[in-house]
Parts: sequence; C-alpha cells; structure tokens
Amino acid sequence: MDPLYVKVDPRDNVAIVANPGGLAPGDSFPDGLTLREGIPQAHKVTLTCIPAGAPILRYGQIIGIATKSFSPGEWVREDFLTLPPPPPLDHLPLATAVPPAPEPLTGYTFEGFLNPDGSAGTKNILGITTTVQCVAPTVEYAVRRIQAELLPRFPHVDDAVAITHSYGCGVAIDAPGARIPIATLGHISRHANIAGSPLVVSLGCEKLQPARLLPADPAFPVFDPDQDLIRLQDERGFAETVAAILRAAERRLGQLNQRRRTTLPASRLIVGLQCGGSDAFSGVTANPAVGFASDLLVRAGATVLFGEVTEVRDAIHLLTPRCATPDVARALIREMQWYDEYLASGAADRAANTTPGNKRGGLSNIVEKALGSIAKSGRSPIAAVASHGQKVTSPGLVFAASPASDFICGTQQLASMNMHIFTTGEGSPYGLALVPVIKVSSRSALAEKWPDLIDFDSGRIATGQATIESTGWDLFHFILDIASGRKKTWADHWGLHNPLAPFNPGPVT
Ligand code: CA
Repeated sequence: MDPLYVKVDPRDNVAIVANPGGLAPGDSFPDGLTLREGIPQAHKVTLTCIPAGAPILRYGQIIGIATKSFSPGEWVREDFLTLPPPPPLDHLPLATAVPPAPEPLTGYTFEGFLNPDGSAGTKNILGITTTVQCVAPTVEYAVRRIQAELLPRFPHVDDAVAITHSYGCGVAIDAPGARIPIATLGHISRHANIAGSPLVVSLGCEKLQPARLLPADPAFPVFDPDQDLIRLQDERGFAETVAAILRAAERRLGQLNQRRRTTLPASRLIVGLQCGGSDAFSGVTANPAVGFASDLLVRAGATVLFGEVTEVRDAIHLLTPRCATPDVARALIREMQWYDEYLASGAADRAANTTPGNKRGGLSNIVEKALGSIAKSGRSPIAAVASHGQKVTSPGLVFAASPASDFICGTQQLASMNMHIFTTGEGSPYGLALVPVIKVSSRSALAEKWPDLIDFDSGRIATGQATIESTGWDLFHFILDIASGRKKTWADHWGLHNPLAPFNPGPVT
C-alpha cells in the first residue's frame, strides 16, 4: 500500500504510520510529507516543525512536551516527550456538555435465558463457586468429572464451571478494602449465566464463610445449605467429597437442563468493555468502533460498562462534562481521587500503567493511552457511576470503577456483565468461562496473524477500507449473534478461560 498516516484531530501536529511493517527514510505521503528516518507501524510522525518545549498534540490534546526540536517527517520516540501532569480534580467541569438523550433504537433482540430476577443469561452454565482458594483444585477435579460423566446427559446445559479464585482466607476480612473482593465474588456467584443459583464448595475453617459470600437476597433463588453446600472438612476424604459434589451437580443439572433460550430485547444485555495490550491504533480503530457499538447498545436500552481508572484518569476533563448530572460527575471524580490515593499508598502513580508492549505499539505514555482508551465509551451521556465491587443494573453508559489490569478488570465487570468486549493491538488470548469474550483487534495484521484467536477485526478503519460507523454496526450485530449462541468466540471454542482475580486493596494477614 502507498504510504499512509492517520491523523485524528485537525489540531494534531503528529500522526501515526498506518503501513504494516512501517516506512523507510525518503518515503513520501500523498500530501508531500517526506520521512527523514524510518518509522515503524503505529508510531508517530511529525507533521509540522515542533520546537523544543512545545506541546505535542494527538486527539487534539497535549500528550507531552517536546524535549527536542522536530522538523516535519521525524519519528517521535517516547523519550522525546515529557509526561504532562494529570488534570487536577478540583476544578473540572461538571455535566456542562451532556449529550442529548440518544434516539431510541428499537427492534433488536437476542436469544437468551431469562431469570426470575429479570436478568438475562447468554449461556446456561452449572456454576460451582468456592469460598476459599484451598478447595479450588478439588472443585476443578470434580468439574472435569462432571464434564466427562454427567454433562453429555444434559444437552441444554453449555458447561460446568469451577468459580475459583485466590481470595477467602489469610486476609483482614473486616478491613474496609475487603468489601470489594467479597462483593465481587458474591455477585459472580449469583451470575445470570448460572441462573443466579450456584453450588457452593467450602473448606470449613476459612474466613469467608458461605453466608458471608451469599447473604440472603430475595432477588435470588434460596440458598439451601443442606442441598447446595459441600463443606470439605465435613466429608470423609477426597473420593467421598467428589461423590458429594457430583450428586449435587446431577440434581442441579436436571434443573438447568429445563432452561431454554427465548427472544429478549437487546436492553437485557449488560456489556463490559475493556482494552488490553493496546497500541496507537486502538484509539483510532478498535476503541472508536466499540464506542459506536456502545452508543447503539445504549440506544437499544442496554447497559454498557467501562472502567479502567488509570486509563481514564488523564482524560477525565473530557468525561466529567459528559456526565448526566453534576452528582454523577462528582461520583466519577471521587473514583479518580480514591485511585490516586490507592496508587500513592504504594508509591506509584498512573504512569505505572503503560507496558513495554504499549510502547512497542507506538503509545508513548499513559496520556496518549488514556485518550485512546476512552474512545470505547462512545458519545453517550455517562448515566451513572459504580464503585469497585458494586453490581450495575441500571441502563445506559455506566462508569464502573476497576483497575485496568485485564484479568482484574474482567473479574470485576463479571459481577455485572453478561457480555464482554476486549480490544487489543498487541494481542491477548484472554477469555472468561462465565461470559463470552469478543476480542477486537485494532490492526488487521494482528487479525491475520491470529485468525483463530481474534473474533473481530477493526483494522480496516485505519486504511480507509471501512468506516467507524460500518464497523460499529457490524460489531453490534456480532454481539447479538454471540449473545444468542448463534456464533461462538474463539476463547470459548478453545476453552481459554482465565482464572478469576478479584481486586483486593485490603491487607493480607
Ligand atoms: Ca485492561
């Protein structure tokens, strides 16, 4: 292909090289700009003279200050710009540019499993939850037996899943921070895709007792310890324990096997968005396409979650004006403040976010990464803010605070979501057992290199072969197909399911 760069905003003085394999010194773009040096794909080229000390602009925003003078056609390496300070939190505009209420989008449906509490499943799974890490290998052993010996007799059940994690004991269970992992695991243990009704395996002596994990809640099927709980320290050895789990599983499989998909409005979807292994294309291809699909979902009445605090912190001044009310904006700022303090307590700040892979992919720093990351949130008003561990049930675009770490963010969003969208530039085989994870690539080169891992390619936006709008619509339809079980993600095809990693900011004992 001919030399091509992607400039996001008319104010920008840098653009990114679109060509796979990068460009060589002397290569010229159609507008006459000629490269003074070779530049890899996704890395930044200067479009104008930039004196030392001048701002470097991408997305129309300052992503750093030039540490040297540039001529047009030079490569802006990460060392050639300084990291600006984060936007101060005390004078942000509150709900000053709220987008108009989006025009409703009607008539879109998916085939899902309706639960008594009104939630919708996108899978029909036997979930066996655990109160503590000690029992995880035992439950995983039992689940392998269930999958081999019992599941074939229950064709309407998609899978049996061990809901295992690293939490449950050796922690300060009453410390304020403990609320987050306990609430997250409690919500996951009553997930819509397991009909809100888990079997529970406990050790017996752990701090996270079953009643604390699953407090009585009239919205969910009654948790009957006599039927639904197996305590290992009450059983006579390993074989007896496994036999007890299999007996309980067989009874529950008989109930789950009665469930059928029915036609449900798209408003029953709760879609979690996150990115991982981002590159400089993420903010111009995958994330804007996801943002467009997010706006369609919001218009259809669905719930869309975005989080990843360290990846919105530097773009917070672009988000608080979009909040539906000043109170929502203040809640968003509170989540930024909380995370600033959390990072400071560990002698770190938001700059600790970027990875070597982000930098290889052309992202110079966290400011540039954040400006690309927030494109996932589309253009809808931010209707509500949820704190870490809180379950989201209200419709619209919701900021649900989470770390940016892929497996922790995914675990936290799993407390609420029944669909997950994951954008990536560098690539990740990430997946979750309980919900479908659609992996969207920012570059076609990645989709071509990983045809059996990437579900959806948005890279053609960079080369002008597709638009954000058309790609967003395609993704919206793909989400409905996956949610309905008509199509399967690659992660589910291969069974690539990452362990849960609840966020525990509390002390360990
Ligand atoms: Ca992430």
